[in-house]
Amino acid sequence: MKPEPSQKPFAFGCDVGATKIALTLGLEPGVIADRLVDSTDRVKGPEALIKSLVSMIRMMTEKNKLSMKNCLGLGVGFAGPVNGKMGMVIKGANIPGWENYPLREKLQDALSLPVCVGNDANVGALGEYRYGGMARRGDMLYITISSGIGAGIVLDGKLYEGTNFTAGEIGHVTIMDNGARCGCGKTGCLETVASGLGIERIANERMSGEETSLRGRAAETGGRVSCATVFQEARSGDILSTEIVENACRYLGRAIAAAVMLMGFSTIVLGGGLTKEGEFLRKKVDFYTRRQLSMIPDEMVGIHISRMPESVVDIGALDMIFESAARRNAGGETGKQRLP
Ligand SMILES: [Zn+2]
Repeated sequence: MKPEPSQKPFAFGCDVGATKIALTLGLEPGVIADRLVDSTDRVKGPEALIKSLVSMIRMMTEKNKLSMKNCLGLGVGFAGPVNGKMGMVIKGANIPGWENYPLREKLQDALSLPVCVGNDANVGALGEYRYGGMARRGDMLYITISSGIGAGIVLDGKLYEGTNFTAGEIGHVTIMDNGARCGCGKTGCLETVASGLGIERIANERMSGEETSLRGRAAETGGRVSCATVFQEARSGDILSTEIVENACRYLGRAIAAAVMLMGFSTIVLGGGLTKEGEFLRKKVDFYTRRQLSMIPDEMVGIHISRMPESVVDIGALDMIFESAARRNAGGETGKQRLP
């Protein structure tokens, strides 16, 4: 006999990155019950993403023997500027097809579910603020360092997106003159020197002209080195790798210190793929940040690594749905979701 589907309400969360999408199932806030990753990337455009999500949701529902009538909705964290109120992607950095794209509306039509959409760093900040190691400290700057760099800002316990929903674009602060061209169209952005792709680019450009162990590593891996390799070689004492990593952390420290001076953040949490480097990364960023904070006592600012860098966007995305469902149940909003 076919088992009866579970009657418990559930939510879906989705992390849309530059090269993959992850779908998460949540049966309660703050806990991931199942996760599915697909390599569909945003470059293929919105229709490919929606098609992929629809089939992932179908697979997840069947696998976990769920009935869609108990689904509270889908929360999405999208890598790029998003108007959370309208559920609209403002711009896909250098990716055609995403300008002013009504992602929430299109997903609601395709899935017949309530949908919330937010910028991934903002959604991640929400997850980190509520369930991370530094949970609910009042204010927080959450910086995600992966292929690119983004940030989410929490002030007085609430996510701050800015009037135009562009707050937290710290990766596109101009940090150096005559710098490399960034995906956003400018030159010298923080992202060009301190993100995973930035570090990779610098290492591959510079290694041919210098005495460095990176060249030997590149020969083993098709002629190029990854950001992880640059960190490995820096740990082993390679001079060029050390210089590239130190520069990245120095620029990160400058940008974080500027944010702290402006907003008075007491808690900084680093998330994203580069936090695999753990204390090695944190200590350097901490050192360079404090060098720029001469007016603020050390004990007033804490720089931490996210305890859940892999799942913080998933958890935030699920929370948007559980929270909007709770508001609907309480007789508040109806259908027009936004970030809490
Ligand atoms: Zn930029």
